[in-house]
Amino acid sequence: MIIFGTRGKVLSNKNATKKLNCKNCSSQNTVTAFTSFRYFHIFWIPFFPISKKITTQCSHCKQVQYQNELNEFELQTFKGITNTKIPWRFYFGLILIGLFFALITFTIVSSSIETGKNAKNPEVNDIYEIENYNNGKRTYTVYKIVDVTKDSVTFEMNDYEVESVTKVDDLMREHPNDYSEKLTVSKEELVKMYKTDVIHSIHKAKE
Ligand SMILES: [Zn+2]
Repeated sequence: MIIFGTRGKVLSNKNATKKLNCKNCSSQNTVTAFTSFRYFHIFWIPFFPISKKITTQCSHCKQVQYQNELNEFELQTFKGITNTKIPWRFYFGLILIGLFFALITFTIVSSSIETGKNAKNPEVNDIYEIENYNNGKRTYTVYKIVDVTKDSVTFEMNDYEVESVTKVDDLMREHPNDYSEKLTVSKEELVKMYKTDVIHSIHKAKE
């Protein structure tokens, strides 16, 4: 089974108006040119074109000549036809990869915007994932909001920490009531914590 490789494709030569005489059968104005290209495919899905070449054929004797067999005059005559655009579907794989990365970027950016909005609107029982960086070691824990005043926010800090952000959910599940120390910060400070990425993400209480 062929999983990936290259395939050839001939582009229509509707606009190829130039004709030459045939060197093979000496017929007049019977040689026309068309463009062909190869494209890389994976599982028959075209990913991207890799080469575009001119091929000529005589309508009388059917002789075919490939680009490397054409002389300078013939190449100059037919040069324009390589401007024929390769249809977008032969870039399908590349477009798909592009969309995939755009989607990831969009998701990251929009979740970061969401966290930023939430940091400006703290509410009791919101849980903040906090990233700490001490002595070259990154750790994660959670803070829970227990009080909000006009200018400040009071957190209870979880007694436990984990080494990976993916384990924060486990920490929250395993230690839901292990908050002993409190921390009060100004709302200004809170926004700064978000901007410096100390606040990794925010779980809103009302959701
Ligand atoms: Zn011919």
